[in-house]
Order: sequence, then C-alpha cells, then structure tokens
Amino acid sequence: MNVAQELELIATQVSNCTNCDLHHSRKNAVPGEGPANAEIMFIGEGPGFHENEQGRPFVGAAGKVLDDLLAKIGMQRSDVFIGNVVKCRPPGNRDPHADEISACSEYLERQIQTIDPKVIVTLGRYSLMYFMPNAKISDVHGKAMQVRGRLVVAMYHPAAGLHQRSLMSTIEEDFKKIPELIARADKNAISQEQAPVDKDNPRQLNLF
Ligand code: URA
Ligand code: SF4
Repeated sequence: MNVAQELELIATQVSNCTNCDLHHSRKNAVPGEGPANAEIMFIGEGPGFHENEQGRPFVGAAGKVLDDLLAKIGMQRSDVFIGNVVKCRPPGNRDPHADEISACSEYLERQIQTIDPKVIVTLGRYSLMYFMPNAKISDVHGKAMQVRGRLVVAMYHPAAGLHQRSLMSTIEEDFKKIPELIARADKNAISQEQAPVDKDNPRQLNLF
C-alpha cells in the first residue's frame, strides 16, 4: 500500500470508528487531510461545529487564520497535512477527555508514521500535551523540540490569536520559523542524535 492509500484507509476507519463516546455526537468524522508527501503536519485539538458539518479540518474561523498564517510564509493548505488529536467533535466544543484522546491516538500515530513528516507543529494546548505532557506553551512555543525522534514545534492555537489579539504577532513570528525548520530538518542528523527520548523531558534542539 502506498502512502495515499494508507491515509485513505485510516480515514475510512476513522469514519466508522466507535472506539470512544465522541462517535455519538459526530455528524462527520474529521480524519484530517493533506498530500501524501507533506513535509509538515499541523495538529489541532479536535473538530468544531463547521468541521463536524463538513468532515474537514480547520474550515471555520480558526481555519481562516491558519490559511492566512500559511500564506504569509508562502505556503498553502494543499502543501501541508492538517489533522487533530481527536477526530470527532466533542459535544458543544467541550475539551476532549483523556480517555478520548487516548482512544483516538492510534489514528494520529499511524498518520504520523505514514506521512513521516520533517516537522510536526502542535496547535493549542491538547496537541502540545499529547507530545509534551508537562510543557507550558508560554515556555516552549516556537522552539524546535525533539520528541520520540521527531521534530516538534508548539504554537498557540490560531483561535487564541482571534480571541487575544496580542498573541497574533507571537503566532506570526513562530510561523515565520517554519520554512527554515523544514529546510534544516535533516532526519539523519536527528536520528543519529537520538538518545532514548524521555516523553516528559523533550530535548530542545539548537535550531533557534
Ligand atoms: N480547531 C481545531 O483544533 N481543529 C479543527 O479542526 C478546527 C478548529
Ligand atoms: Fe474513534 Fe477518535 Fe472518533 Fe473517538 S474521536 S470515535 S476514537 S475516531
């Protein structure tokens, strides 16, 4: 199976999944989308109202912000994979529960393994927590970290920029680092360096 076929299979399995209670409230599952050869994956929290309606990630207000942020660094949606920690909308947009995140993690892990991106960008608290349970976004945003052998950069959620205008320039500054991160991400160098990585104590790379 090639990468596109594997992603398609994951998406089909997500759409039929009943592994956690969130399947009761979904209208459409949101497996995530992007090209098979994406060099970068953006991982948000979970579908909201519009995503649930359309079955596509980041199509509401936060998605518009994400599109604008990408455009400012010369990228577009079709260049990147966009996914979420949970694939079905939590009722009323409540936060996802730990057991739901854990039930859904098999899909995210398979998407990451399949795409094998150079860079993973976490958007928001739950996505950061997934990779670095003890990190504080205010400490680690915009910094390249190595987590389980992968280059992970935490960013504030685009919706946070909408609600708190002062954060928007921080998000923009962090996004500006993305092209260079992709350019410099040398997977060989990273795997050579790869000591056993402690999930709770990710090492910061000296890229920035
Ligand atoms: N917010 C998210 O975290 N994910 C989406 O898909 C949309 C909004
Ligand atoms: Fe399955 Fe994930 Fe949807 Fe839960 S959120 S039903 S684990 S796809």
